[in-house]
Amino acid sequence: SHDELRASHAELRESHEKIAEQAEILRDLALRDSLTRLHNRRHFDEQACRLFRRAQQQERPLTVMMGDIDHFKQINDKFSHAVGDSVLRRVGELLRKHTRTGDLVARYGGEEFVIAFVDTSLEQAHQLCDKLRTQIASEDWSDIHPQLKVTMSIGVAQLQREETIDQVVQLADGHLYRAKSGGRNQVCKAA
Ligand code: GH3
Ligand code: MG
Ligand code: MG
Repeated sequence: SHDELRASHAELRESHEKIAEQAEILRDLALRDSLTRLHNRRHFDEQACRLFRRAQQQERPLTVMMGDIDHFKQINDKFSHAVGDSVLRRVGELLRKHTRTGDLVARYGGEEFVIAFVDTSLEQAHQLCDKLRTQIASEDWSDIHPQLKVTMSIGVAQLQREETIDQVVQLADGHLYRAKSGGRNQVCKAA
C-alpha cells in the first residue's frame, strides 16, 4: 500500500544516513592517532600539502616545527609504558591547547610531533615553539608520576619558495637533531 511504501522509504533513508554517519566516523578514525586523538602523519601530509600550496600562492609565511620528547625511552623504562602513554596524551593536549585552530598539529610517529604554523614567520614560530617547550618543561607532571619530568627538543624551518613539504620537514628535522646534540630541551632554527 501507499503507507507501507512511504514507511519503507523512510527506513531506507534512515539507513543511508546511518551509513554516511559511520563512514564519517571511520574517516575520522583513519585520520587521527588513537592514543592522543591528534591528527596522524598521513593526515598531516595531506593537509600540509594544501596549506603549503596556499601559502606559496598567497606569498604568506608558513613554518614547520618538529618536536621530539627527550629521553622518552627512559620514561618508559624507569616508570612504565602506561606512564609513557599518559605523557604522550598530555603532550598532545598541551600542543593543541597552545596553538591556534588554523595550525596543523599532528603526532608524526612514536614520541615525535609536528606542527605547521600558518601565516607565521620563522622568528614568530621560534618564539611560539620556545613557549611550547617551556610549557612542557614547567608542566606539573606529578599526577602521572611523582618523579616524572618531561622535556622536548624542537627544530623549526620556514617554507621557502619552490620548496616541497618533505624538504621543509627534513630541514626542521635537521634542526631538531641539532637541538638534541646541543643538550636537549631547546629550540633550533636556521641561523
Ligand atoms: P632522545 O632524547 O634522543 O629522543 O631519546 P629517546 O629515548 O626519546 O628516543 P628513542 O628513539 O631512543 O626512544 C623512543 C621511545 O619511544 C622508544 C619507543 O619504545 C617509545 N615509544 C614509541 N611509541 C610509543 C607509544 O605509543 N607509547 C609508549 N609508551 N612508548 C612509545
Ligand atoms: Mg624519536
Ligand atoms: Mg625522543
